Amino acid sequence: MENKKIVIIGAGVSGLVATINLEKAGYEPIIYEQKDRVGGRVQTDYIDGYTFDKGFQILSPNYPAVQKYLDIDLLHLKYFFTGAFVFKKGEQGKLGNPAKDFDILFSTLFSKLANFSDKLKIIKLYRSLKYKTFEEIFNSKNQTTLDFLKSFGFSDKVINNFFKPFYAGVFLEENLDTSSRMFEFTFKLFSETKAGIPEKGIQAIPNQLANQLKQTTFHFNTKVKSVEDNAITLANHTQVEADFIIIATETSDLVSNLKNQPQEWKSVDNLYFEVENRVINLPMIGLVAEENTLVNNFHYLSLASEPKQILSVSVVKNHNLSNEELAKITQKELLDVCDIKINKLLKHYKIPKALPNIADVNYQIPHTETKLKDRIFLAGDVLSNGSLNAAMLNGESLR
Ligand SMILES: Cc1cc2nc3c(=O)[nH]c(=O)nc-3n(C[C@H](O)[C@H](O)[C@H](O)COP(=O)(O)OP(=O)(O)OC[C@H]3O[C@@H](n4cnc5c(N)ncnc54)[C@H](O)[C@@H]3O)c2cc1C
Repeated sequence: MENKKIVIIGAGVSGLVATINLEKAGYEPIIYEQKDRVGGRVQTDYIDGYTFDKGFQILSPNYPAVQKYLDIDLLHLKYFFTGAFVFKKGEQGKLGNPAKDFDILFSTLFSKLANFSDKLKIIKLYRSLKYKTFEEIFNSKNQTTLDFLKSFGFSDKVINNFFKPFYAGVFLEENLDTSSRMFEFTFKLFSETKAGIPEKGIQAIPNQLANQLKQTTFHFNTKVKSVEDNAITLANHTQVEADFIIIATETSDLVSNLKNQPQEWKSVDNLYFEVENRVINLPMIGLVAEENTLVNNFHYLSLASEPKQILSVSVVKNHNLSNEELAKITQKELLDVCDIKINKLLKHYKIPKALPNIADVNYQIPHTETKLKDRIFLAGDVLSNGSLNAAMLNGESLR
């Protein structure tokens, strides 16, 4: 066994993967985590038999990091069809990649939500990305997703009816200002393979990572206040010495005299409702393509055969509404635009720090750039891009 003392701050997906690699190298790491469990932004609450993920997120089995660190079969993913069911007053229907998904071939080709030339361009984009590696995507020109879509020749019609609402839900911003590298990355993933949510909720992912750890000590409910060159100070003022410190979260609050700006974040509200009816019978994401609505996307947690229908709804737009006002407006929009009748609100999560807002995204932080100071190293999605893939790969970059 290596006898160096290594302390990790943060038991999110990135900190856990860093710890897995440290154990493999013979260390016995110590993790300090401010919350009561592993997972960070990947958490599920289990209440009254319901599985409430804190924010709608899905896992692509095609993430290279997933294939390295997770046993996909054990997660029992509940897959979504590619594409989405679009709701707009007067028009609605399924839209997706007609070249890949036979189930939505005809509905996409005949949908009035896009021009025929847009449908051909979706196939052209899919084919052009098929042989592009993720590294090539992240080395390509950095422009906004909106500029990319326009220069690719997509019409305003398909941009407003599909790309804007769909990618607002993925990027958690409505203007498609996010780098086109993230667009190409996620379009490639989502158009090639179905993505899904683990049967036991998204928390099953960090739980599976944590189960791989055998030599690690966890300190939960323990907030780290600051990081010095060879020690950390906890919120209760205890100092813990360490040979090496890994910060697997944003650094700005922890290390003094850092020149980098505080991390900017994108937020989302996730509401769970018990509803009376189903308006989509396939496992598909519903999108609201009205410009002024707050509701961005929704999906049913329950199967059609189950007695109670549970809906997860995401609101991406920034707002200053109280929880009651937001629930009321959401309920009205779901009825007016999608004909969904709400019985009651079950849960509401406000997630102010959901995805890091990063202008110059990269695929994975190079091994040589993880060192902040002699004994302090960095991990986390904040170094690259807001995804489970980047979180895991950056945990691995420390080697
Ligand atoms: C609503 C939402 C939707 C998303 N959708 C997707 C998706 O569909 N697909 C996808 O791939 N990714 C998605 N993501 C992104 C993905 O969840 C993140 O990229 C990933 O979880 C980041 O992991 P991390 O370990 O880098 O950071 P975090 O999960 O933030 O982990 C950091 C950990 O450090 C702890 N910590 C922070 N400060 C301290 C301190 N001072 N002391 C002790 N502990 C501390 C935190 O409590 C946390 O546990 C989504 C995220 C959210 C929130």
